[in-house]
Amino acid sequence: MGELNTFPVSYKVKGQRIVVVGGGEEALNKARLAAKTTASVVIISDEATVSFDGIDHELVSGHRGFGALEGAALVFVAEKSPVADAVKAEARRRGIPVNVVDTPDECDFYVPSIVERAPLTVAVSTEGDAPVLARLVRAQIEAMLSPDTGRLARLAGSLRGRVAATLGKLQARRFYEDLVTGVGEPEALLDAHAGEAAGEVWLIGAGPGAEDLLTLRAQRLLQAADVIVHDQLVPDAVIEMGRRDAERISVGKKKGHHSFTQAQINALLVRLARQGKRVARLKSGDPMVFGRAGEEIAALRKAGIGYRIVPGVSAALAAAADTATPVTLRRVSPGVIFATAHGADSAELDHWAALAGAGLTLALYMGKSIAMETAGKLLRRGMRPDLPVGVVANAGRRNRSLYRATLGDIAADGADMADGPAVIFIGEAVAHGDWAAAEDLAVAKFKVA
Ligand code: SAH
Repeated sequence: MGELNTFPVSYKVKGQRIVVVGGGEEALNKARLAAKTTASVVIISDEATVSFDGIDHELVSGHRGFGALEGAALVFVAEKSPVADAVKAEARRRGIPVNVVDTPDECDFYVPSIVERAPLTVAVSTEGDAPVLARLVRAQIEAMLSPDTGRLARLAGSLRGRVAATLGKLQARRFYEDLVTGVGEPEALLDAHAGEAAGEVWLIGAGPGAEDLLTLRAQRLLQAADVIVHDQLVPDAVIEMGRRDAERISVGKKKGHHSFTQAQINALLVRLARQGKRVARLKSGDPMVFGRAGEEIAALRKAGIGYRIVPGVSAALAAAADTATPVTLRRVSPGVIFATAHGADSAELDHWAALAGAGLTLALYMGKSIAMETAGKLLRRGMRPDLPVGVVANAGRRNRSLYRATLGDIAADGADMADGPAVIFIGEAVAHGDWAAAEDLAVAKFKVA
């Protein structure tokens, strides 16, 4: 993440003045903005070329300009003139922040693009670098917020005293969440939240590791969670999509390095939920695919704790998308098998080989370090050495790497691949994908159909 040269704040101007120097279009724009606040607007101008009708303001002529700075919170300089220069210098001397229109270098503060649903304001700023971008982003946010948002925010404000008196901290937050998202009417919600807060666990699929491959539901629940319990494989950027002040617990199950056993994780989830917390159990990909969800769900059921499951984009599907590989394909591959190479026994390997022989695509998880060994075992079970193999490391992420080879190549040479989790595809369907950007793991690569 980059660093900001500005610090976004909402600056109090109530009962003070906002001074605008100038009599043209730019001055009018700033005066309009200023008039949205409860500050009094003072315009310093000797010859206005626009009409300030409709804006409640006081007009002061240039030579009396300094007086207008008395009690001023902010100054906008919207013209180039000796008066403007003098006011600017005097404001600086008095320590009043100045904005010189269209001259970023001379600005003490910038004016963000604003979405306003008073008292809610959303300010979008690019520190003056890209006002057009700021306007586009603003338009998107504008479309996202219902016109009712401001009313609900005011309502929340007016209920604060009562809520504080009747609800605990946790119930209060949930009450406000339900209120502002329009889940129910205030009185009914107050009653509904007055009881003991019940804890819950949400098993949420984080997808392969790109923020924008998180589902909207996953994001919404991450915002509502009190605690986020996540695996090592979920990148920080995805966890950052959660509520800022949610507690975060990494149960970092790295391969060969278990900081938490599965039993400990199960116990942790039950304990947190019993404390009344809403727990987001964030797992990479889809929670139901090689995610140990089965064990966690069983533990929650046994403890009588409510749970919900939110699907995510599983690694194999992200890898298929990255390489335009249709993992099922008419007349080529009648199905796809999600399997793990890790710990597969002889009988399992026999089945895979038979299924692959029938054309099914194998999508192997957790197999990178044992790719060579697994390929050898599959060959010994009669799989064809010329079967295409495609590997995607860091699927769905910006730093993805693609590799292609044949089953025979991998069995002979192994595979030297980038760091990070990888999915291995084996089957004819692979040759129908777009692996042009892939590195060849061996000379005898498969031919793309
Ligand atoms: N629930 C996850 C799988 C967890 S098991 C899912 O549905 O994707 C961990 C294995 O998933 C890794 O060994 C690797 O094979 C695969 N994996 C997870 N994220 C990946 C990614 N971004 N790119 C490639 N493979 C990934």
